[in-house]
Parts: sequence; structure tokens; C-alpha cells
Amino acid sequence: MAPYAVISDVHSNLHALLAVIEDIEVRGVSDIYFCGDIVGYGPRPNECIDIIKRRCKVLIAGNHDWAAVGYTETEYFNENAMAAIEWTRQTLSDEHMDDIKEFKLFKSDPEINAFFVHATPKDPDQWDYLFSLSNAAVNFKSFKQKLCFVGHSHTPVIIEMDSAGNMSTAWDRTEMQEASRYIVNVGSVGQPRDGDPRASYALVSGAEILLVRVPYDVDKTQQEMAEAKLPVRLIERLSYGH
Ligand code: ZN
Repeated sequence: MAPYAVISDVHSNLHALLAVIEDIEVRGVSDIYFCGDIVGYGPRPNECIDIIKRRCKVLIAGNHDWAAVGYTETEYFNENAMAAIEWTRQTLSDEHMDDIKEFKLFKSDPEINAFFVHATPKDPDQWDYLFSLSNAAVNFKSFKQKLCFVGHSHTPVIIEMDSAGNMSTAWDRTEMQEASRYIVNVGSVGQPRDGDPRASYALVSGAEILLVRVPYDVDKTQQEMAEAKLPVRLIERLSYGH
């Protein structure tokens, strides 16, 4: 099976996206899957949609994508996230608005035995966060594939469930076992929140799942955000990865 990459939560951060795609290509990997949230928070939504559309084999919607086109409620969005969504609505071209309306909430690829969803396989449209192992255990019942890739929390982690139902976690890499299944949070390309400002994605090669970090030009994205008058808090957090 050819190696492949899974990316998520680009959030209109073009420079982070370009750095990640270059890192993937330098490794000789051509298949890229996308787990949702192209837009929201960042300054270059139209360019990011063009690239994701062209480069990704599978792409699905995140809560910010659906919020931008009015497909999901936004009352749980904080003030800054909401301001960025309003800005995104005004900045997206009609064509890109129509693109987002076509995005589905989940997809699977039988060729690699994987399921893709932005938040949780159990309730894809509820936008819950998958943080605890007990919550993960419930979610393992909601897909049948060996692998489920998610984003949404912006915190990369690999959760393994073995054939006896025992669970374990890994934060940087794991060797897949024959009888185990996995939920992989691939982290965020455009707004990491685990204290590491570098862009995050997952690379699957043979039995190995690797969580990769890629440095990018944070200053450039921050400058563009300032020019777009996006909220200061959203600009600053990119420096800290939080
Ligand atoms: Zn997100």
C-alpha cells in the first residue's frame, strides 16, 4: 500500500499549508486526505480551498467550514471565532462558498481501510471533542474500519484499541498491530494548540503511523491577519501554538 498523509484544521493559514504539502512531497508521498476546517481564524481562505480541492483525495467539512456557509449553529463559537467567521463570509468567493456547501461530514476509503470525520464518528454533526479514553471507547463502536482519522481539537494523538478492548495512547508514532484499531487525531496545520507552534499532520507508511511537525513562516501569516484586521488574540496564539 502506498504511503499517505492526513491533514486537518488548516484554518486559512496558507503558509502553514504550503509548508506541510512541501514536507509531504519531499517524502515522495502523493496521497493526501483532509479532515475538515479549511477556513475560519486565518487570512487566506480562498487560496487554501483551491489547494485542498486540487491536492486532496478525500475532503470533508469541519464546523468552521459549515459555519461559514450557515449550515451549522454558531452560538457556541467564542467572540474571536465568530468575528473570524463573519470576516470569512465576506471574503470567500461565491465559487468557494458553493464548494464548501458540497463538503460532506464524513467519508471512508476502503482501499486504506480508513474512516474520516472532523469531530467524532459517533455524532459527526455535534462537533464534540474526543479527549478522554472512555469517550474514545464509545467512538470505536461508531466506525468499522481499522483506522479513523479526526481533527477538531488541534491536539495530535494516536489512540489504540486492541482486540481485548484495552486502550493506549501515543503522541509521536506507533507501529500498527494486526488485531488493533486506531483513532488518530492528526492535529492542526494552521492553528496548533498543544504548545508546539509548528504545523501538524499524520503520515502512514506501511504499519507505521507518524505524527509529523513542520515549521513554517508564522510571521507571514500573522502579518496577513493583522492586515485583514482579524482579532489580536487569534494572531498571537500562533506564536505559542496554543
Ligand atoms: Zn479547527
